[in-house]
Order: sequence, then structure tokens, then C-alpha cells
Amino acid sequence: MRALIVEDDARIAADLDRALTGAGFRVDCTADGETAWFRGGTEDYDLIVLDLGLPKLDGLSVLKRWRSEGCESPVLILSARGSWTERVEGIDAGADDYLPKPFRMEELVARARALLRRSGGRAAPVQSFGRLVIDLNRMSATVDGIAMSLTPLEFRLIAYLALQADRVVPPPELLEHLYGDDDAREANALEAVIARLRRKLGPGIIATRRGFGYHLEVGHLEARQPEAKG
Ligand code: CA
Repeated sequence: MRALIVEDDARIAADLDRALTGAGFRVDCTADGETAWFRGGTEDYDLIVLDLGLPKLDGLSVLKRWRSEGCESPVLILSARGSWTERVEGIDAGADDYLPKPFRMEELVARARALLRRSGGRAAPVQSFGRLVIDLNRMSATVDGIAMSLTPLEFRLIAYLALQADRVVPPPELLEHLYGDDDAREANALEAVIARLRRKLGPGIIATRRGFGYHLEVGHLEARQPEAKG
């Protein structure tokens, strides 16, 4: 799960980074509107936290450009000027949620999780996939009721497959959601994480569709993925 934080106040940005990293996100930060516009338009984020008062290009203009260019990432707007007109303008421009400053990090993280669940088409924080149960709030997973000891990277991987449970996820997309800019994005690194997860979770949880990617074993996938046959 990847998040982009767009915030020019360094202290707030650092707090947001810490809170979202703690909530299981892989976080990128940027402090001006132009860089934000570029990154949000070229990379695929699961969540964007966008401050409105930004240098170079204001947050509302950034959001309008993203939406007009087809960027569909869930966007949560932050603003010190919590007036209702700005809130309406932000939501009209395509924001998914809005939080006036000052706010509590706990509330931001709760809203971030809710946005993530909605964008994954799933409403509840605890999801069952046959023998596998994932708790997005507690960042924990169980198989047959037994708690799995997973690293943050391993949890991000299984949680992303769970949020995309009705389709096969291609390796480049998984890599993009697992690693930030400063990490190696080698395909063999992904295979190593998958292999470790399979050892921990046991057989019958993560399936490989050769030539297409990975998916959770949830039984009904074959019928929903006719293009993946052969
Ligand atoms: Ca600002």
C-alpha cells in the first residue's frame, strides 16, 4: 500500500509520515504542488494526503489536474482554513475526504484506512479469504485461526493481494506498491518475499498465474478472470 503525502509544513509532514508508516503504508513525501502533480500523475498511489496551501501550485489546482488527467487515487484533503466553501470546492474537485487542521493523527489514520477499504471495494477492516483472515486495523493475519508473524513488507504484500482479491495482480504492480523510490525493485526480491510468505502461511493461500501474476486462493477467481486463461 503506497501513500503520497503532499505537505509543505515539515513538522506535520514528518508526523504524517510516521503515522502512515506505522499504519502499514509505504510513504513518499513531497512539499510543493508542482512535484505533487507530477508524482500523483505518474505513479499509482493507494492514498494521497493533500494539503491545500502549497508553494508553486495550490492543492486544489493539483487535485483538479489529477482528476482531469485520469488519476483515480483516493485523495484526503488537509487545510488550515477549514471553511465550508473550501470543503465544498475540494469535494467538487474530486477529493474523497476532508480533514481540517488541527487534527489528531488517530483520526487521519482511521480515515485513511476507511478510504483504502472503500477503494478496494470492501467495507470491513477484517476480511476472510477461506482459511486466511486479514485485519487491516491491527495489521495482522491468521491462517486457520493461527496468528502469523509477518514483517511489515510481508503484511503489505498479503494485504494488497487481499484488497485486489478478485483479480490477478501483475508483478510490476505489486513491486510498485511494496517498495518506495529508494528501495530495490528487482523482480527476484518480490519472488523472495512471496517464497517467505508461502513458507509462513502454508500452501493454498497465494497462487501464481504463470505469465500473469499472483492472487489469493479464493475459489471464484477463475470465473472472474476469463482473460487470464491459457
Ligand atoms: Ca501548507
